[in-house]
Amino acid sequence: MRVMPLIAVGLVVGIGTGWWLFGQRGAAVDIAPVDPASVIAVPGEPAPSPSVTPEAVSGPSRSSLQVTAAAPALPVAPVVATPATAPAPASASSGLLLPVQGISPSQLQDTFTDARSEGRVHDAIDIMAAEGTPVLAVADGHVEKLFDSDKGGLTMYQFDPDGVHCYYYAHLQRYADGLAEKKQIKRGEVIGYVGSTGNASPQAPHLHFEVHVLGPEKQWWKGDSINPYPLLTGH
Ligand SMILES: [Zn+2]
Repeated sequence: MRVMPLIAVGLVVGIGTGWWLFGQRGAAVDIAPVDPASVIAVPGEPAPSPSVTPEAVSGPSRSSLQVTAAAPALPVAPVVATPATAPAPASASSGLLLPVQGISPSQLQDTFTDARSEGRVHDAIDIMAAEGTPVLAVADGHVEKLFDSDKGGLTMYQFDPDGVHCYYYAHLQRYADGLAEKKQIKRGEVIGYVGSTGNASPQAPHLHFEVHVLGPEKQWWKGDSINPYPLLTGH
């Protein structure tokens, strides 16, 4: 009669030890399934599969394997999602600054496809503002060319640092002091002042602004015009 409790204790200890060992193996296996491909490959190989099969762990470890395999998958998804969403705002907006001080995007009008004299298309945006309002660089870059033309009046051609885009500012009343060709300029720097030089009406001073995609020759007078409106307004 006294033997029974001892057997019972022995059973409990034995089961407990079994569970402990089982748990240890489970814990050890948890590290392995990091690479699911290698785990899946094991049963396919003839030599290791018999040694794996007899183990009682193989059943539960497979289930714990799936749990642990699923567990790392969860943190992986946000990690991948984070860099995917991060560049989205950057690509959504061009990062170009609105080049006339005190003007908000809602005040702009898309006049890119408007007709102009001699059958020309505008290929630009006109930003109406009072004479003498500071004109700001839309991005970092350098002054490629300062040019006084019949139509554009006092103009400036700016190249971006990569030489991909040219920003063209026209009808300036005057340039900012110290502005010169090849000068490095920063986004937001005053490059000149709104005016009506060239063919602009003195009654409607404005900044005529264009964005060109430069060709391989990187010539300030050659490039494909793209619409500045969405670049400046974000839509
Ligand atoms: Zn214009």
